[in-house]
Amino acid sequence: MKENVQQILAHFHIKQFQHDLIHWFQTEQRDLPWRKDKDPYKIWVSEVMLQQTRVDTVIPYFYHFIEKFPTLDSLAEAEEEEVLKAWEGLGYYSRIRHLHEAVKEVKEKYGGCVPASKEQFSSLKGVGPYTTGAVLSIAYGIPEPAVDGNVMRVLSRIFYITDDIAKGSTRKKFENIVSKIISHDNPSDFNQALMELGALVCTPKNPSCFLCPVQRHCRAFAEGVETELPVKTKGKAPKRISFRAIVLMNKKGNILIQKRPPRGLLANLWQFPNDEHAPTRNDEAFVKEISERYHVVIRSMERIGSFEHVFSHVVWHIEAYKGNALELQMGDETNKWVTIDELKQYAFPVIYQKIWQAYE
Ligand code: SF4
Repeated sequence: MKENVQQILAHFHIKQFQHDLIHWFQTEQRDLPWRKDKDPYKIWVSEVMLQQTRVDTVIPYFYHFIEKFPTLDSLAEAEEEEVLKAWEGLGYYSRIRHLHEAVKEVKEKYGGCVPASKEQFSSLKGVGPYTTGAVLSIAYGIPEPAVDGNVMRVLSRIFYITDDIAKGSTRKKFENIVSKIISHDNPSDFNQALMELGALVCTPKNPSCFLCPVQRHCRAFAEGVETELPVKTKGKAPKRISFRAIVLMNKKGNILIQKRPPRGLLANLWQFPNDEHAPTRNDEAFVKEISERYHVVIRSMERIGSFEHVFSHVVWHIEAYKGNALELQMGDETNKWVTIDELKQYAFPVIYQKIWQAYE
């Protein structure tokens, strides 16, 4: 039978746990750029970047992004194209679209000051319980839980909890536990310490239990079952889509690029002509499809290579080509012929950047 939160915490030494965890964090924490001050805007940006992306990957993006948009107002006033370009390569673009919308609202409604109220902050676009807890606790010292997959892994080991962490109800249970054990003297370091422990010590495959600052509190370690936790059911395998794409150059040396639709996967990013929505069976059918859809005559075509990209719910496999073409129609807002220099100003998904690199 599963224990309730009260039973779980019955013999747990909360004060000692807080002390051991926070003391370790204060001596061992990594020197990360968003930890240099408590600017809520920068902490918010870093938390959004860190969702689904590793710290090492995020660091250079964070520096570049903050250099370009040093304040909330500067981000709120920027054009979407410019913002997407600064995010190019980080993936999960709905994150930045939502953040952009949310900071515009903060500028308008709250005079550019990130609200410290849970109700106001969590009602902003793209802001879920994790981001709310992280930003409010780290920037404002408010004792709100910030529970993501890493924190659930750590806590399911410390408390020997076998609930499936893929379920929403399990996240709620962990939020409930954190709200009972969080330090009210230092919620900022407490939440960051849990995240840091998950990143450095209580790692998914080989937790370093012998170096762990909270080992004496850990029930999974005491039972020798730390590697069996957390319990997580697997989601559906991602769907695989195979299609073709082509880098086309006209006589002037310009390249044809296309803007993706404003909704859906990789919305508003740019790409090369392709048959993603109705994959063709062979090269001949592909040439016909591209010629009609993009109003071009393809004069030559040569294979560049195969490229693959894994999204959370879909895997793209692209056979990429290059070719020379004659344009039958001038470009417009969504289909443009651009010089190679101009091409660099447009934001492309990673897989199309790789195709471009192979083309070059
Ligand atoms: Fe994780 Fe091991 Fe520490 Fe327990 S003792 S919290 S399993 S690293």
